[in-house]
Amino acid sequence: MTEQQRRTALVTGAARGIGAAIAQALGAAGFDVAINYHSDKSAEAARILAEQIEEESSVRAAIFQANVADFDEVKAMVAAVKEAFGGIHVLVNNAGITADGLVMRMSEEQFRSVVDTNLGGAFNCLRHVAPIMVKQREGRIINISSVVGQYGNAGQVNYAASKAGIIGLTKSAAKELGRKSITVNAIAPGFIETAMTEALSEEGQAALSSRISLGRLGAPEDVANTAVFLASDSAAYITGQVLGVDGGLSL
Ligand code: NAP
Repeated sequence: MTEQQRRTALVTGAARGIGAAIAQALGAAGFDVAINYHSDKSAEAARILAEQIEEESSVRAAIFQANVADFDEVKAMVAAVKEAFGGIHVLVNNAGITADGLVMRMSEEQFRSVVDTNLGGAFNCLRHVAPIMVKQREGRIINISSVVGQYGNAGQVNYAASKAGIIGLTKSAAKELGRKSITVNAIAPGFIETAMTEALSEEGQAALSSRISLGRLGAPEDVANTAVFLASDSAAYITGQVLGVDGGLSL
């Protein structure tokens, strides 16, 4: 691939789980990959993932530490990615946390930390990456929402609000940026097997599976394949949409 044809994808929270699967799949699809991670304990996993992507897919991959909830850290990260790769063509806002609790017992901190990371993080990345994409006159922004943002979930007012907010952010940004050939879409995964759902008991997992038409939890690759599609030329005329990847849970 010539330097001119190279495309770069920035994936947030990509050291593990769904983010790692997305980074890997975008690498396999020919994108250079910027892997964002947050905590020091994720640095090793991020480094190993970058090595793996470079070996498997003959693309470039590099790691960038930043807390997506911090506006200035994201600004510095985006500048560093642009410096390293020359542009940013795909942004996947994947970083996310939960801090569950019933509304009557939820602390302000519990609410704010989840909204600041999940929704604020997506805004911070969009805010700093959009000008680069506007200059390029092309870009794909993919925001990871959740079925919970569409239908709600007891014990998750903070998480559901952040994920519903991501849908509003997606649709509004799609309206603003469409004329610059930038698409903005959201993926709403159902229950995907990662550390986030690992905490569920076997009975809990069985109860969940019984509500999923396909009868099983999803794999991170199920979400990753959808992200690759949205980043591809085949999805050039899709914007402002929320794609469910939930095995029929939301039916
Ligand atoms: P996960 O395994 O817990 O991974 C979350 C990732 O987010 C980690 O890599 C973590 O990095 C990163 N992260 C957290 N806070 C961050 C911050 N402030 N700045 C940068 N990165 C941060 O979760 P997952 O299941 O893969 O979830 C990925 C996304 O999918 C999330 O947005 C989640 O809400 C969404 N989702 C998941 C499911 C599911 O069933 N698993 C369903 C619907 C939606 P560090 O370890 O470095 O902190």
